[in-house]
Amino acid sequence: MVNKLELGDIIVMKKPHACGESRFEIVRLGVDLKLKCIGCSHEIMMDRLEVYKKMKKKEGNKNEKTAQ
Ligand SMILES: [Zn+2]
Repeated sequence: MVNKLELGDIIVMKKPHACGESRFEIVRLGVDLKLKCIGCSHEIMMDRLEVYKKMKKKEGNKNEKTAQ
């Protein structure tokens, strides 16, 4: 179930953000990932393992026309 995560990926988290949106965009890759909430643009830093643990699925990439 673990997909390789790339910049611009849209991922769906198991628990929605405080604003009610559960989709986040990956805006920075590194030891920690920076995720931006699609709903309110709030940015959060999260450990890579934690992201894998908390994400439900990858919805696609905003730089691609079709989700994969
Ligand atoms: Zn939000």
